[in-house]
Amino acid sequence: MRDLDGLNALVTGGASGIGAAVARELLTRGARVAVLDRDTSGAPGGTLALTADVTSDTGVREAVAAAVAAFGSLHTVVGNAGIGAVGTVEDQTDEEWHRVLDVNLMGLVRTARHTLPHLRRAAAERPGAVSVTHTCSVAATAGLPQRALYSASKGAVLSLTLAMAADHVRDGIRVNCVNPGTADTPWVTRLLDRAPDPAAERAALEARQPMGRLVTAEEVAAAVAYLASPAAASVTGTALAVDGGMQGLRLRPA
Ligand code: NAD
Repeated sequence: MRDLDGLNALVTGGASGIGAAVARELLTRGARVAVLDRDTSGAPGGTLALTADVTSDTGVREAVAAAVAAFGSLHTVVGNAGIGAVGTVEDQTDEEWHRVLDVNLMGLVRTARHTLPHLRRAAAERPGAVSVTHTCSVAATAGLPQRALYSASKGAVLSLTLAMAADHVRDGIRVNCVNPGTADTPWVTRLLDRAPDPAAERAALEARQPMGRLVTAEEVAAAVAYLASPAAASVTGTALAVDGGMQGLRLRPA
């Protein structure tokens, strides 16, 4: 399927996990793709790798300028770079709260600040084809234990997504997010590797999922590609769950 032919995309955090799968999917469907990541060593072949940290406003501005200089325009922005945090509100210091919010929330704000002028121009030429998609999480609304900081950061991402969708709908820029459930990426592998028996921990994690398995990065990427595609020309202000039923299903009897 070449439904993204002629679109120029920027994917933050595109060198690993979900972001890398998104970059590959957008490429396969015809887009040109720039990957902005603090470590671009894993950026998929065929992408324009831009090493930058989303906590640096200058770094994001320069990376966006480099993508536009290379491609000539920008139609698709995927704000995906994010980091995790485990614990309750009693476990984490102000510094940890600031560090995670600086990446998960402010990283998207900086990306938006520097890409919106380019998106606005592109939307005038290609109505319906210009979009921003954020990688949010089921944690935004699910009330997960031991995820106070991470959940709050993703709740903010959901609110930012909806507010941006309202602000830019008349600019012709659609803004949506995907809410992955537990996805099988290096992020989850790193968490499992901390357990005394990672294989047993993985089996237990899979058993807790409604489908008995983790979501794949490719499944999340397919949802992101849909939201970026002409098929989603009327879709804005939406959170699309790709979570194996984690949020919507109530599998335990009352
Ligand atoms: P990952 O660790 O495999 O990939 C994250 C990428 O973001 C890495 O390439 C990393 O270098 C980059 N990154 C992190 N901080 C950055 C920064 N400050 N500046 C630039 N790049 C930075 O993780 P993943 O599982 O692919 O997660 C991607 C997104 O999906 C995150 O926003 C995460 O919150 C979200 N998510 C993941 C899961 C899951 O279970 N894996 C579930 C829901 C949501």
